[in-house]
Amino acid sequence: MKKLVALFLILIFGCAPQPKIEYKEYKDKLVETARRCYDRQLFWGSGGDISVKVPGTNKFIVKSTGYSLGYLDYNKITTMTLDNDVIEGKTPSHEAPIHGNIYKIRKDVGAILHMHAPYSTAWATAGMKVPPVTQQSVKLLAKCGIVKYYPVGSNELIDEITNLYKDEVIKVVFMENHGVFVVGKDLDELLNNAEFVENTARIAYLLKAIGTPKEFKFE
Ligand SMILES: [Zn+2]
Repeated sequence: MKKLVALFLILIFGCAPQPKIEYKEYKDKLVETARRCYDRQLFWGSGGDISVKVPGTNKFIVKSTGYSLGYLDYNKITTMTLDNDVIEGKTPSHEAPIHGNIYKIRKDVGAILHMHAPYSTAWATAGMKVPPVTQQSVKLLAKCGIVKYYPVGSNELIDEITNLYKDEVIKVVFMENHGVFVVGKDLDELLNNAEFVENTARIAYLLKAIGTPKEFKFE
């Protein structure tokens, strides 16, 4: 029957109906945000991942494993449930279970990014959180988390990061010898938060060249 309808449409309109892209709005925004993150050098090669929750559902869309965030398309993203079952697409990123867990416990989070940006990853690799040295960074970095090194995809890594995000204040978690997790209420806030983390890491690094970076505190 479907074939007959398609044939009818081709005869009438000269083209076959295009298959409906489910959650197109969110997939398009995810691809666009990933590209912007890549342009800002928050990711390198195929490392890192990004996801967005589909509001009002128990689903999220995440980068498939092995692809560069600068060049995502509909074939390089995976739709999953918050229980980490794949609904559509290829094998998801190794850190996808962390994304699913965070969405489950944090109703205020609508988008998540895991980046290997050089300055913030350098602080994490040294076993240090990025200090909130500017007044703009206090809200984001005054309270954040850090986990020691665990292999990618290990239960220890998944559990440690998930546990830290049970604290509703925490938006940033540093991963020793690896990178950083950042969350936001949506993809726009996520990009803003990620840029803030990396830029503050850079400023704090420059301050070390001058002297000892001091944390900023409002009076
Ligand atoms: Zn990573």
